[in-house]
Amino acid sequence: MTLALLLLASVFTIGPEKVKQGGVIRIETKEAGAFTARMGERRVRLFPDPDGGQLGLLPVAADDAAGFTQVVVEDAEGGVVTEARVEVMDARFPVQNIRVTPGVQALRAAPGEMEAIREFQGIVSESRYWRTPFRRPVPGCLISPFGVQRHHNGKPTGNYHRGIDQRAAVGVPVRAPAAGLVRLAEMYRLHGGSVGLDHGHGVATIHIHLSKLSVKPGDRVAAGDLIGVAGATGFATGPHLHWGLYVHGVPVNPLDWIPAIPRCAAK
Ligand SMILES: [Zn+2]
Repeated sequence: MTLALLLLASVFTIGPEKVKQGGVIRIETKEAGAFTARMGERRVRLFPDPDGGQLGLLPVAADDAAGFTQVVVEDAEGGVVTEARVEVMDARFPVQNIRVTPGVQALRAAPGEMEAIREFQGIVSESRYWRTPFRRPVPGCLISPFGVQRHHNGKPTGNYHRGIDQRAAVGVPVRAPAAGLVRLAEMYRLHGGSVGLDHGHGVATIHIHLSKLSVKPGDRVAAGDLIGVAGATGFATGPHLHWGLYVHGVPVNPLDWIPAIPRCAAK
């Protein structure tokens, strides 16, 4: 490593050193220039941070393998600027069985529904609207955490829970967890009433099973603005709010972004 590279490397911070599955690795620098950070095949851009410098958010998926991994920062030419070893910790997500009625079990996505949701999740826009901490979209307790391996009627689905479920009766207002741009507002067959917010720089949230939508695509929202009303539409066994937080298209644990939510008391 040349002296110049060594000096550049010292102005990048990559952390935390240990990150749980569903967490996010932050790459920060005061350096100007175009940089990307990657971990295996996953690559993200560093964006200007409103507080100065640049920030990259590298998501760790719930099903990423636990163990040591290398985070590599590259410049615009693909040259390695710095790298750091990070340990992905096993979050030990439990298995959760859900009893699903035949009617709900038979629900299928409408044509184009899955594509629209996937496209939304991958949006990376140049403006940053978000700031931390995020707010809870509803005040209700936590019914189901992020990352649990889902079984339906005792059978593994092969899927994990890509967001969290909060208790919310039909009619409870759902509010934007952070400022953003409405990119998705649609009554879907499988997801039910859905509002997707683009918070900028690769951060997005989705809110589903809503009984009523209060926004339309293109609307700007501030943190706390009404975006819809809770319900039990789509693939839902009862009224609640499911919401998910995506970083560069990867679902991450929303609980890391908001003030603590108490678990609902067991029935
Ligand atoms: Zn859910």
